[in-house]
Amino acid sequence: MKHRDLLGRIGKLKTKSGVLETPLLFPVINPLSQVVAPREMREKFGFQAVITNAYIIKKHLEDEAKSKGVHALLDFNGVVMTDSGAYQILQYGEIETSPEQIVKFQEAIDTDIATILDVPTGWKVSRSHAEYTVNETIKRARQLATVKTRDDVLWVGPVQGGEFLDLVQKSARQMGELPFHIYALGSPTQVMEQYRFDVLVDMIMTAKMNLPQEKPLHLFGAGHPVMFALAVALGCDLFDSAAYALYAKEDRYMTAYGTMRLNEMEYFPCSCPACTGRTPSEVRDELAMDRQRILAMHNLYVCIAEINRVKQAIINGRLWEYLRLKSQSHPALFQALKKLKEYAAYLEEHSSLTKKSGLFFFDAVDLARPEVVRHRKRLEERYSPPEKAETLILLPQTAEKPFHKSKEYRRIVKILRKEALEKLENAHLCFYAAPFGVVPIELDETYPLSQYEIALPIDLETKRYVAEQVANYIKKSGYKEIIFVEDRENWNEVVTEACERACKKRKIPLKVLSGNRWGKP
Ligand SMILES: [Zn+2]
Repeated sequence: MKHRDLLGRIGKLKTKSGVLETPLLFPVINPLSQVVAPREMREKFGFQAVITNAYIIKKHLEDEAKSKGVHALLDFNGVVMTDSGAYQILQYGEIETSPEQIVKFQEAIDTDIATILDVPTGWKVSRSHAEYTVNETIKRARQLATVKTRDDVLWVGPVQGGEFLDLVQKSARQMGELPFHIYALGSPTQVMEQYRFDVLVDMIMTAKMNLPQEKPLHLFGAGHPVMFALAVALGCDLFDSAAYALYAKEDRYMTAYGTMRLNEMEYFPCSCPACTGRTPSEVRDELAMDRQRILAMHNLYVCIAEINRVKQAIINGRLWEYLRLKSQSHPALFQALKKLKEYAAYLEEHSSLTKKSGLFFFDAVDLARPEVVRHRKRLEERYSPPEKAETLILLPQTAEKPFHKSKEYRRIVKILRKEALEKLENAHLCFYAAPFGVVPIELDETYPLSQYEIALPIDLETKRYVAEQVANYIKKSGYKEIIFVEDRENWNEVVTEACERACKKRKIPLKVLSGNRWGKP
């Protein structure tokens, strides 16, 4: 692992045919018909790896594949991953092979990354069927050790359970105990097609929290760039896309923010080699084959660009900001982002402590950010105020940061001195600040308490959060009195009232210094 942000990570995956950098997208190659040839995938687009279907190869090209190997069969000189055919089961019911045969066949054709023949759960199925798919997949996973003969092939263990999260949990735990090199989350394709990204968050997080952290996680059938950022942020490392070709066949044009129909387009919002020099109406006039190829190529370029943007966001420590940006593409994605609140504690535990860049805060959705959760946790668990501190003086956040170096702060302190607050010696100064809550003055230069930007005016939910933090801090503390400097312009009375309640509960005096004289110049 080289870099990380949220649960996203840039890492290296070693295979017998080369080292791959993750997050990685495998374009799906149909062994029988290709709109973009595998060789082109590597030479033109730079794909180091592709995924193809072992079941289809076995059914139609068994002898050739066995004698040549899958790399020569596809004419692809990189890493080849094979899916077992499980998706075909989902589509067409039973298939004419056995789990043992598929394992042996993948070894025989020299695949680099192979998948056991799992039983996909699917979407909108009964609980008993879902249970069957989980149990049968685990049974087959256990059999792998007795069937496989090679040690240089990486094996993928698919987690099943669909929308039944307790089954996903069981599946992840039991699969996680088996020595797979890579784990995968099965059958989210339909969930994604229905734009149920909130369900997807639950599924991925349940799998992630119950699988070995250090192993790569593949998200099967997640081929649209609109959700790469979300999936990577939740810890998915590998993706496959058949969508680039399937969409092209239906004249659908992918963008990083959604899908457009070619016949509704006047302009191409893209400058990839497939779009450059063409207009949608020109592409509409092409023969079906050519049109499909142009669209497939564009779709691939869009996918590559999006994966690169996500990776760069990880390096810049801006994956959360990027998720926010993406979440504006569709209400379903915004809903998924809001869902992360439920997993905030886990995200915090597994996110890096420091970043190269400051943070951007927009509104209450950002309260789920690991940095906000971490400050709350640490203030609660690890912080105690200076021993002699008898009076807590709570000051509003200042526009300049760090707070204690701002002009406003200096002005306020001058006034406090004048107001005969001789107790200033025994006073402890803290700021109330959005989004973090209470920021003790001696910590205000600690990352990220000064290294952030926030959009004003502060929204009510964020104010309430800060008020709650202030109240909790007072209730837990041993201060003998509180002096609260109001800033009505930016905070209304939300924090003041929380302070009043907390002081009443602790039976200590509260002095509120109000008026515009304390506020902004
Ligand atoms: Zn394009």
